[in-house]
Amino acid sequence: MKKKIAVIGAGLTGSIIARKFAEKGYKVDLYEKRSHIAGNCFDNKEFNSFTHKYGPHLFHTSNERVMEFLKNFSDFVPYPHKVNAFIDGQFVPIPFSLASLKITHPEFLQKRIVQKLLGEYKFGSQITIFKLLDSVDKDLKNLGEYIYDKVFLGYSSKQWGVKNPLDLDKGVLNRIPVRINNDTNYFNDKYQFLPKDGYTSLVKNILKHPKINIFLNRNVQIELNSITSSCESIKINHKNYLHAFFTGMIDELFAFSMGELEYRSLFFKKSEAIFSPSTRPSLQLNYPNNYNFTRIIDYGFISKTLGFKPLKSRLVTEYPGRFDRKSEIFNQAFYPLFTSKAKDKYNKYKLKLKSVSKVITVCGRLGTYRYLDMDDAIAAAFAVVDNSILIK
Ligand code: UDP
Repeated sequence: MKKKIAVIGAGLTGSIIARKFAEKGYKVDLYEKRSHIAGNCFDNKEFNSFTHKYGPHLFHTSNERVMEFLKNFSDFVPYPHKVNAFIDGQFVPIPFSLASLKITHPEFLQKRIVQKLLGEYKFGSQITIFKLLDSVDKDLKNLGEYIYDKVFLGYSSKQWGVKNPLDLDKGVLNRIPVRINNDTNYFNDKYQFLPKDGYTSLVKNILKHPKINIFLNRNVQIELNSITSSCESIKINHKNYLHAFFTGMIDELFAFSMGELEYRSLFFKKSEAIFSPSTRPSLQLNYPNNYNFTRIIDYGFISKTLGFKPLKSRLVTEYPGRFDRKSEIFNQAFYPLFTSKAKDKYNKYKLKLKSVSKVITVCGRLGTYRYLDMDDAIAAAFAVVDNSILIK
């Protein structure tokens, strides 16, 4: 059989797998159920800026291989992402740092807390909220409780639909550290960039290869009944492939045989374009303790980053909700739910993969039920290709 593979899903993972196999001489058919490529990175240009259709995507990485790869497909402009949370009537830099402490605490307490923090931790280090909550020292424990109550509790309850965010996998809250310095950047990675012409253009360039065929608006059906571990090829839309790389939801792949997996969804409410230059302190404003949304994104900030004069601003408000295929507004799966019950269900599906692993690899954020940043998704896609039995 000809060297031909199928990739399902034209997001970052699928696009990178398609590119890597095309470069290795395989013909690749890339199927995408949406009407566009680039998955949740999809953006469109407006008002000297880019609006991100599926929520803000701010690229950051310390992974040299990822950065080297991406540089082949786009120019990048530096963008150190900043986030402020609205706490008791003021905007406070997030992650919570010594700079945040200066805004939220009276001076006499600040001095005492900083002294104690520096007695315990090195200046410049970052710690988890859990570490602070476990402090023996009363002032540090109080600080932990303050940060948990004001920054994490409300936001995470809304985002994940749980009463007690401490029930979530610790990795979720650990994404946002507490910083023992005055750094107000959201990330501390070596590279913090935005693609100059947007993410859609970046992915378009990744997919520009004579061996890649893209089929949009194709919700493929993979018939798994006929597939066994000894199967040498897989049939999709009447075409035969050596292997399929599936980046969709694993419960869909197995026709929900063990029930539906739980995901969180988002609804994005777009404002009309507004004229005034932004008085907001940052592109992203979090609202942990007020309203039923989590954050507001001002895409006008991107035009400044790209070196343009902001013409107008588009504000997008993010409302989280439970993913439901039948819902009118929460019908897109964004995040796997990180409770142990939800994960157990995923692991049952994962076991089923063994029987088809010769012809199907399940990968990506949805497929592997993981919280992947863009650079993690890219690195994981490299690993899928590096480890593939097809190219050994
Ligand atoms: N989080 C929070 N308060 C904040 C920011 C984040 O509680 O002000 C928690 C919340 O549970 C969120 C997680 O930290 O889902 C990860 O935040 P991140 O900004 O990485 O979320 P993403 O941009 O990936 O949605």
